[in-house]
Amino acid sequence: MNSNRNMRIPLIFVGHGTPMNALEVNEFTEGWKEVVKDIPRPAGILCISAHWETEVSRVTTLEKPPTIHDFGGFPSRLYEVSYPAPGSPFLAKEVQNLTGAKPDPSRGLDHGTWSVLIHMFPEADIPVVQMSIAFDQPPQYHLDLAKKLIPLRDKGILILGSGNIVHNLRKIDWDNPGGGYEWALRADEILKDRIRKEDTGMLVNYQKLGPDVMWAVPTPEHFLPMIYILGAKRENEKLSFFNEKVVMGSLSMTGIRID
Ligand code: ZN
Repeated sequence: MNSNRNMRIPLIFVGHGTPMNALEVNEFTEGWKEVVKDIPRPAGILCISAHWETEVSRVTTLEKPPTIHDFGGFPSRLYEVSYPAPGSPFLAKEVQNLTGAKPDPSRGLDHGTWSVLIHMFPEADIPVVQMSIAFDQPPQYHLDLAKKLIPLRDKGILILGSGNIVHNLRKIDWDNPGGGYEWALRADEILKDRIRKEDTGMLVNYQKLGPDVMWAVPTPEHFLPMIYILGAKRENEKLSFFNEKVVMGSLSMTGIRID
């Protein structure tokens, strides 16, 4: 990776899947490594993770954000993982100025962020700031907010969305680690088709995309990080997919890169 503040950093959305990915080396973690291999070294990372929901949009301001182990029932070694990347009060301030997000002086990094960054940037030496998902707001709000982040892209900031476009925990099928239900496979295709067409009008009204998508997106928090990535896209940029696979029945690992 070359350090170059003038070269544009792509927008990236990742399907993060299970937090166990933090410890594993598998096709998805390899995909995360691969997708940042050829990009300039970011000056900072702004992550919008499914795992931080607040009433109003907030941004982390800590200089040393702790690693939050925000899950239950996993092996103890997962609770020992630390991702000691610095924060950036400076980037946090820029995000506040651009979006009106409120500062959060105590929040650390959740697993939607560190389980992925630990593979992308294992040295943990790039400053990371998180912006929360305001849970009471409709998808259009998030799309509009994402557009306000565009100037950060000229300052070498990597904007990373971390969620899963198909995510139904109640339907998880532990007996099918490498495959998906028919409805989940269809929903992944339906959503990818709309994403490819940059049909944000339909994506913010995803409830109208039919029963497969309704099963795939029972709650919006894992879907919305993708909306942020589409919202921060400029017109002439190209969009591609990676890690295109549905696992455990009802989780799509589909990632998006926008150059
Ligand atoms: Zn998650």
